[in-house]
Formats: sequence, structure tokens, C-alpha cells
Amino acid sequence: MRVVPNLYPAVERQEVVVHTPEHLRSIAELSDEQLGLVAEAWRLRASAAREEGFPYVQALVNEGRAAGSSLPHTHSQLAWLREVPPVPAAEGSFSELLDGEVVAERDGLVLLSPHAGRLAYEMLIAPARPESDAFESALLASALALAAEGARRLRALEPNAALNVWLHDVDWWHLELVPRLSVLAGLELGAGIYVNTVAPEEAGARLRDATA
Ligand SMILES: [Zn+2]
Repeated sequence: MRVVPNLYPAVERQEVVVHTPEHLRSIAELSDEQLGLVAEAWRLRASAAREEGFPYVQALVNEGRAAGSSLPHTHSQLAWLREVPPVPAAEGSFSELLDGEVVAERDGLVLLSPHAGRLAYEMLIAPARPESDAFESALLASALALAAEGARRLRALEPNAALNVWLHDVDWWHLELVPRLSVLAGLELGAGIYVNTVAPEEAGARLRDATA
């Protein structure tokens, strides 16, 4: 595992976490042990960010060209931010987001197909009980493992799906996994109206039945 500065940072400080020396393309292919190391790398770097005056770290995974990734090797990114960015800041009452179809549950975490999902097969991974401070949570490694399971379930249904995963380190921290099966266009970007072609109830049932 290596953490290096992003050569083309979009914000003041941005780091790339190279998940493994093996040539693997997706978090779906990583073992729980490897994902535990990813969680540890996120924790150490978030702690360094805080010490240097960046209280919020946006941790994210982009996989596939449609999801904005230019590297075919599994990696994540850590954007160091001076304040909570707009999307997590606007989430407010997160309990509404937890309204969804349960796909899997383990280790005190739940994997859901949220009823308010924007795009087909969107998933949410969260501690079953409210918990703040994701980076210091004993559940972060298990949450990444559950996200990887979600990615495997998605692959069983949509083999080449590009995807984004991001962490929202808010009052009730969680990971969101958003498959990029369609192109965001004027209605989505201009109006904030998302066209979800698979009803969340149906997506939940298909993901639950899919091989992980
Ligand atoms: Zn969120």
C-alpha cells in the first residue's frame, strides 16, 4: 500500500491511496485484509490532514472511465478540505437516507438500496446505529468490505459498471456507492432531477439475489 500526492490535484491537497501492488482493477477484487489496510491508510492520512488544518477529508473511489477514473489500478483518493463541502453539509437529517431496502447486514453495518436513490443500483453502507467520526471508527474497515461486496453484487448484474464510492463523514457517517450506468444530462445536472431506471425496491431485490 502506498499513499502519494495526486500529480493533478483538483484541490489544495489531494492524495492517491494505491491499494495494492497486485494489478487489480476494483475494490471488488480486494480481500477484507487489504481493505483493512485501506481503512488504516485513510485513518492515518485523515489524522495528518486534521493536524495540518484540514478538518474534513473527502475519501472517494472512482472506478471506470464513466466514473472519472483515468487509472485502471485500484486506488482511492483523499481530498483535504478546509470545511465540510456542500453535499454532506446539506444532508442534515441522515435518518431519511437510511430508508431503503436491506441488501445485506453484518458486523453492525447495513448495506441498503435507498428509496431516495438517484441512479440505478445506488447503494448506501452505514453503521446500523448513529456514529460520528468515520476515520476513527472501528467499523470503517468492515464498511469498506461491505462496499466491496456491493461492488461484487453490482458486477454480477452489470459486469462492466463504472462506479463511484465516497465517504460522508457526518453525524451518522456512511459510504455511498453510485454505479455510473447512465450519463448525467440536463435534467439531472440542470434541475437536480435524477432519472432512476430501476426502482429501488427492484434494485434491492436483484442485489440481494446477486452473487457476492
Ligand atoms: Zn451521504
